[in-house]
Amino acid sequence: MTGSSLSTRFVHAGERRGAPAGVPASTPIYASSSFIYERVEDIDRIVEGEVSDFVYSRYGNPTVAAFEDAMAAIENGKFAIAYGSGMAALHAALLASELSTGSIVLASKDLYGSTFELLLTVFGAFGVKTVTEDFTDVAALRAKAFELQPRVLLCETISNPLLKVCDIGECSQIAKEVGAKLIVDNTFATPYLCRPLDLGADLVVHSATKYLGGHADATGGVVIAKEDFDKPALLGALTLAGGVLSPWEAHSILRGIKTLGLRMEKQCSNAERLANELRRSPQISEVIYPKFFEGEQAASLDNTFHGSEFGAIVTIRLADDTREASYRFLNALNLCTRAASVGDLFTGIVHPATATHRELSPKQREKIGVTEGLIRISVGIEDVNDIIADIEQALAVSTACGSERQKSAGTVEHTSAAATWKEI
Ligand code: PLP
Repeated sequence: MTGSSLSTRFVHAGERRGAPAGVPASTPIYASSSFIYERVEDIDRIVEGEVSDFVYSRYGNPTVAAFEDAMAAIENGKFAIAYGSGMAALHAALLASELSTGSIVLASKDLYGSTFELLLTVFGAFGVKTVTEDFTDVAALRAKAFELQPRVLLCETISNPLLKVCDIGECSQIAKEVGAKLIVDNTFATPYLCRPLDLGADLVVHSATKYLGGHADATGGVVIAKEDFDKPALLGALTLAGGVLSPWEAHSILRGIKTLGLRMEKQCSNAERLANELRRSPQISEVIYPKFFEGEQAASLDNTFHGSEFGAIVTIRLADDTREASYRFLNALNLCTRAASVGDLFTGIVHPATATHRELSPKQREKIGVTEGLIRISVGIEDVNDIIADIEQALAVSTACGSERQKSAGTVEHTSAAATWKEI
């Protein structure tokens, strides 16, 4: 080390010892924004693209690269690019799809609410038009695609919270027929249930914040592509828009992926058992779970999921289909969390009408089936008997309190809840 004064040693002492001879068993967190080389010519060759290595973490970081390699491998893609969140990944996938003023995005009407907002506000401001269609109605989708000649078809493998399954093979066939790119948000299915690139999709997007990370401790996103020609645009969207994933988050998500198979296996079997139990409950009017699909939806499921499991989310509609009953149920839960996210290893339950679909008017929600008594359960890895017991006791509390209130009709709680409902 040059310079021996104490203040110089404070800055340089202990740093840059070089890599150990042994390869670390687990990818280290490379918490470094830049990388130093012996000769400036080395940096030049990397920046020029003649040599693949790391110079500056917005352009690439070894921990993030390990996560990207893992995603390309498990989604059967050519390469993957990581971003700071699922929304940043969706933004990048759309930016990389040659959209310009007058382009049309044909989007599934069951998309995550913020994805709609992204399309309408960010891309809409540049003259990109978004048209929605029911992607589970293949004939209607084909007719709309031929009529509009969209540049992009955008859907989710499993919709939230009604769990509609898109036939990805059919959607990709339609995209090819009209020369559009098919982007699939595979967050809810994960590659454990479905690999959209194998079924013809062009780009797969994940909110890694959900099942991939799985521990509610990291926010991230990723786009996986089938063809190399998408790389410059996806990298450009990363390095210029700058929504990079931090190496700390990449490390957490990479660790999460190691147990994705184990978690999904347990979560899917817990969900199936829970769905079967809840079907017997008189306090529930409908249990939505892909196992119970019939007709076209059952066929889409067969074509799209590669195993014999049905996912880890169960959606229920309370017999008392009101906000008051939903809140009583949610507030009575002792074990299951009232978490806003999905895909964590603990059971998380949300009220879609006031969470994921809050921005919609009551009429719009009613139209798409997101009624006040609809509840989404993201099933965790706990002992399923404990999950069932907690949900059953909360249903019992909710029903008992409901009957008490009905006896004293016109109570203050009922009036104030109704007022809140009208204000939204
Ligand atoms: N896609 C889906 C299906 C989601 O549910 C979410 C978030 O809930 C996102 C994308 C956005 O992900 P993130 O919160 O990581 O930005």
